[in-house]
Amino acid sequence: MPGKKGSIWVLCGCMFAQKTSRLQDLVRRAEIARLNWISFKPFIEQRYSPDRIVSHDGRQMNAIVIQRAEEILAYIREDTQVVAIDEAQFLNDEIINVVITLASRGIQVYIAGLDTDFRGLPFGPIPGLLAIAQRVEKLTAICTLCGEEATRTIRLPQNEGGVNDEETIIVGGKEVYEPRCLECFLKAR
Ligand SMILES: [Zn+2]
Repeated sequence: MPGKKGSIWVLCGCMFAQKTSRLQDLVRRAEIARLNWISFKPFIEQRYSPDRIVSHDGRQMNAIVIQRAEEILAYIREDTQVVAIDEAQFLNDEIINVVITLASRGIQVYIAGLDTDFRGLPFGPIPGLLAIAQRVEKLTAICTLCGEEATRTIRLPQNEGGVNDEETIIVGGKEVYEPRCLECFLKAR
């Protein structure tokens, strides 16, 4: 189809940076243009609802729950124009090939995820996704200690409750995690 170009657009940042809200806005924008969209999220992310993408402020959007990135391709139809993926940090590395395949078929891909884990280290496939993206939005939150711009997420120690510090994935919200600027993050670590 002439003029049909695919592209990969990554929304990243720490927790509470409104990544999911931004993803929902982009899908809404596509919906207004009457584009056919479909959205996905990994199985692990069941904070609010099993088959919906729900932002921290409660906005919802239908989503197909997948265990592995390669499952996405089975849901793509000839007329799919937009694919949205949330919480991509929890997906396997195959997601990189999957989004390249989608873009090569002329699909606009919006993909959101945490760029660093609670240790401040690159999280899952996000660094690779940033490398192959045509466009990247790095969103920030506000540090709850000093009010500076926050780019890191800290896991609150009182809630670790015997959980091994090696455990990267503990699903939770404000009761488990808080946004921090780099300085406050490094002081706490
Ligand atoms: Zn701070």
